[in-house]
Amino acid sequence: MSGSILCLAHVSEAGDALPKASYEVLGTALKLTKQLNAKLTIGLIGADVTAASGTVANAGAERILAVTGPDFATAHYASDVAAAEAICRSAGAELVLAPATSRFMRVLAGVAHRLNGCVDTHVTALEAVNGELQAMRWHYRQRIEAVIRRDTRPWIVLLESGCNAPWTGAIGAAKVEEIAVTLPEAAKRTVVTGVRAPKSDAQTIRPDADLLFVAGAGWTKKQADGKPHIDQAETLILDFLRASGASLGGSKSLVDQTGESQAVLGFMTHLNQVGQTGSTPRHPKGLSTCCHGEEPHVVGWRFINERRAVNLDPNCGWARGKADVLYVADAFEVLAKLNALLAQRSQTNFEAVAQGA
Ligand SMILES: Cc1cc2nc3c(=O)[nH]c(=O)nc-3n(C[C@H](O)[C@H](O)[C@H](O)COP(=O)(O)OP(=O)(O)OC[C@H]3O[C@@H](n4cnc5c(N)ncnc54)[C@H](O)[C@@H]3O)c2cc1C
Repeated sequence: MSGSILCLAHVSEAGDALPKASYEVLGTALKLTKQLNAKLTIGLIGADVTAASGTVANAGAERILAVTGPDFATAHYASDVAAAEAICRSAGAELVLAPATSRFMRVLAGVAHRLNGCVDTHVTALEAVNGELQAMRWHYRQRIEAVIRRDTRPWIVLLESGCNAPWTGAIGAAKVEEIAVTLPEAAKRTVVTGVRAPKSDAQTIRPDADLLFVAGAGWTKKQADGKPHIDQAETLILDFLRASGASLGGSKSLVDQTGESQAVLGFMTHLNQVGQTGSTPRHPKGLSTCCHGEEPHVVGWRFINERRAVNLDPNCGWARGKADVLYVADAFEVLAKLNALLAQRSQTNFEAVAQGA
């Protein structure tokens, strides 16, 4: 099959590199390039790709193409679709690989249509088997894994993050071929005037975090003294998230309490729900607290490699083969201790840096 593979990326928001997932796509593109004896082209989109192109200069691509300029600084359908189309046409690749960033998820189906090609999203793996390309993706809430083959070319594939090893290499100076794209007036009608986003420490869903911290309904239940301690629970959890950088998940029972107008943790929404009717996040480690470990919840832990849980109940679901380690303990006490240790660690690091300075 493929004589030529294009690895397509846009620069990161900071503008100095590519989003983390792009390096994972590049790793996959290089693997396939080798397996299929194909040629690799890298395509970049952004206001200025000088720094970002340097990070992939030594990846071994035959060509590095770019569409640059102020019109291509921010995510914007009309400009991104035109830039991606121009790069795809110039590269003439049969296979186009791109990261499943929100910016690309919005535009690449449109690009496939313009190129008379086809597109697949949410792909987790791509392999060459006997010279034939096979893409894998999950359906039906991660219960069925499908293997997809396509005859149509170009085939655009958006790869999910966290599933493939990233390419790493020394920064260099890349030889970039600029492709001129002049946008028609009709493509400039929408102007991005700024971005309003929650403060980064208010943003509790962090797909790139090493740890998934899950809070269950137990945090809001009556404790040993016969009373709930919601304020204390909120402080303990938020302090832990801040100090550890973990991503926050919740059980259905906990996130549903908002709708039932009970007192709940203010920062927990349905977007945090992990499970059968929730999300299936991907993190190397997971820590569950005050959550029973029922099957419909644990379904969402499928891609968490190392699982630990804290529960008062030695017969909870986690003890029945759902976790690697269960701490039978009071999560309020465990988290208070963990936060103290994390504060101590950051103080030690601070002192070490101060001494080194
Ligand atoms: C079709 C279907 C789909 C579902 N989908 C989902 C889903 O997507 N996600 C999901 O989460 N659920 C889902 N559920 C619900 C699921 O079955 C459970 O009811 C739910 O996950 C229970 O939440 P929980 O463990 O937080 O609460 P509980 O079952 O109330 O457990 C609370 C736990 O906290 C512990 N605890 C209390 N205080 C402390 C303390 N101080 N220290 C330590 N531990 C303490 C208790 O021992 C208890 O085990 C689904 C159910 C169905 C039928």
